[in-house]
Amino acid sequence: MSGRRYLVLMGPPGAGKGTQASRIAEEGGMCKISTGDLLREAVAAGTELGRKAEKTMKAGELVSDEIVLGLIRERLGRPDAAAGFILDGYPRNVAQAEALDALLAELGQPIDAVVLMDIDPAVLFKRLTGRRSCPSCGKVFNIYSAPSEKGDRCDAEVHAGIEAPMLVQRKDDREDVIENRLRVYERETRPLVDHYRDRGLLRVVKADGPVERVSAEFLRAAGGG
Ligand code: ADP
Ligand code: ADP
Repeated sequence: MSGRRYLVLMGPPGAGKGTQASRIAEEGGMCKISTGDLLREAVAAGTELGRKAEKTMKAGELVSDEIVLGLIRERLGRPDAAAGFILDGYPRNVAQAEALDALLAELGQPIDAVVLMDIDPAVLFKRLTGRRSCPSCGKVFNIYSAPSEKGDRCDAEVHAGIEAPMLVQRKDDREDVIENRLRVYERETRPLVDHYRDRGLLRVVKADGPVERVSAEFLRAAGGG
């Protein structure tokens, strides 16, 4: 991706946002900023914020706008974010989008593009129930489409030479919670498509294909290589 880019990545749970954000950010020297990751870190660390968010996340509901804005404000204020960022999972409703506009105006870093990962909902269930991740390094796998080379343990380089951690399944990747998360997406987040289309920022990427093909389309859509 050429030049400094400030991007927002949107799409339903399981569309592949985290996977693409990691690849594109690494390639372009940008920061991947995921509110889901920041919240899960707070839960794992047992902070007060994490304790407040945990029950809501387990139910597949949205954590309060105030909590996530606090997290995103702190993260976007760090110097590395000025070099370019991909926001994964924020904003998730119209109030968050308005708060983000105000924050980015303050920082002098307006959004260049909003990439919507468009996908057949029927694909999502398998992606989500098959998702596994490393509790130590965060690498994301899929038992169907992207299995670990080490079976149920993480195959990331960082664990070379030691016994690699066992992969885990997110508590909210259970079938009943997935259903609710998809409903919450339709009700709260989908309206942002019009919000950003009206502002001329929306780019749509088909997210059903293999990871590499989606990345190539993403780069074209977001105005890079
Ligand atoms: P997915 O990758 O499956 O879309 P995330 O990892 O982005 O899910 O988010 C997991 C959970 O964290 C959400 O279901 C929600 O409870 C909480 N969360 C993440 N981002 C936000 C946000 N911007 N606003 C409110 N809650 C959020
Ligand atoms: P999101 O952040 O949108 O919830 P993830 O990037 O975590 O989505 O992807 C959800 C699951 O689907 C993960 O297990 C991931 O390995 C897998 N996955 C991601 N992109 C693809 C793809 N293009 N084809 C097949 N599986 C994919």
